[in-house]
Amino acid sequence: MTEKLKNQPKKTVHGGCHCGAVQFEASVNRDETLLHCNCSMCSMTGFLHLIVPHEDCRIVQGLDQLTSYRFNTGQANHLFCNQCGVKSFYQPRSHPDCWSLNAHCLDGFEPNEWTIESFDGRNWEQAHSDLKQPQKP
Ligand SMILES: [Zn+2]
Repeated sequence: MTEKLKNQPKKTVHGGCHCGAVQFEASVNRDETLLHCNCSMCSMTGFLHLIVPHEDCRIVQGLDQLTSYRFNTGQANHLFCNQCGVKSFYQPRSHPDCWSLNAHCLDGFEPNEWTIESFDGRNWEQAHSDLKQPQKP
């Protein structure tokens, strides 16, 4: 990624659940990478991660419509709409200071416009330590 692109202003994305009860907006880097995770939860839900710091997100409405589901270590707080069942965002274990937005729930989502990387959630501990030491030049 060139410095020129990095210096571009962030873009605002909007999204939410299927019925519209839950809606969010977020300010994200133009070159932000989406993570495709193969863990049991993400495989079943088809979740595609857009990790955004809490302070760059605004939950516009629907916090009171969310049901929480926790498993394994319980550190991740999986949130889904109690009307339509869609998990449009949640609190990930890997990034305690961020939300993970479901890219599939963004308005007008076009996969071709994003870089998508794999995250080996089935081997979470190793994958997470790799995340913290990115192999970037
Ligand atoms: Zn809903």
